[in-house]
Amino acid sequence: LVQLAGIRKSFGAVEVLKGVDLSVEEGRVVALIGRSGSGKSTLLRIVNGLERPTDGVVIVDGERADGRERERDLKALRLKVGMVFQQFNLFPHLSAGGNVMLSLKVVKKMATAEAEAVARAMLAKVGLSDRFDHTPDQLSGGQQQRVAIARALAMQPKVLLCDEITSALDPELVAEVLAVVRTLAEEGMTLVMVTHEMRFAREVCDELVFMHQGRIHERGAPKDLFAHQQTPELAAFIGEP
Ligand code: ATP
Ligand code: MG
Repeated sequence: LVQLAGIRKSFGAVEVLKGVDLSVEEGRVVALIGRSGSGKSTLLRIVNGLERPTDGVVIVDGERADGRERERDLKALRLKVGMVFQQFNLFPHLSAGGNVMLSLKVVKKMATAEAEAVARAMLAKVGLSDRFDHTPDQLSGGQQQRVAIARALAMQPKVLLCDEITSALDPELVAEVLAVVRTLAEEGMTLVMVTHEMRFAREVCDELVFMHQGRIHERGAPKDLFAHQQTPELAAFIGEP
């Protein structure tokens, strides 16, 4: 579903991705791990077209999506790829329902009644049926993040990218967000997530991808990688508290 080949990305003179190959089959759940600055977010941003790779090929759902062909590629790409960020990025003046409805109306040109029905269904899916009219400041961090997930899902993406979506949350709110992600995984959603939640990665993800200095340094089934690491860098990373 997602194929990355030979992805390189430089910012000025600094090369932050140095040739990354990664394919994600439909229904797979992939965790990206690695130290700060190893290039995890940049890689996700390339998959959804927020960044254009300096070199390499991105194919999502059979279509070239690295922006080198035509601008319309990026538009098509953004419909296929959903993304949820560490900071929830909700519109503060809109209700939870309004946040979920916005792209449906603006991008998908859905009529208000239909968009509202979809938004109610998506909020129900993340356990927030009773929060449709609440604005973000009336919601907890965990609830806001679940609204952000509902908003991404409403667009019916082929793949959902999650970049440290629990890192900004108070510890007691992490579980409710991870529970939603776990349900999505069980339902067969294709997921690529940057996460520091190692236990979650071990339990839910099919593949663990360890990034180090702009490259995939080690990858494999979580149970194998947690049991023994091939490289000292992954051993050190996993050994940290
Ligand atoms: P973290 O765990 O801290 O989120 P990360 O693995 O997600 O780290 P990236 O955000 O992908 O790392 O950043 C990789 C490198 O690229 C870093 O050195 C960062 O400073 C640099 N970088 C990222 N975006 C830009 C940008 N827009 N301009 C210049 N440098 C950038
Ligand atoms: Mg990051």
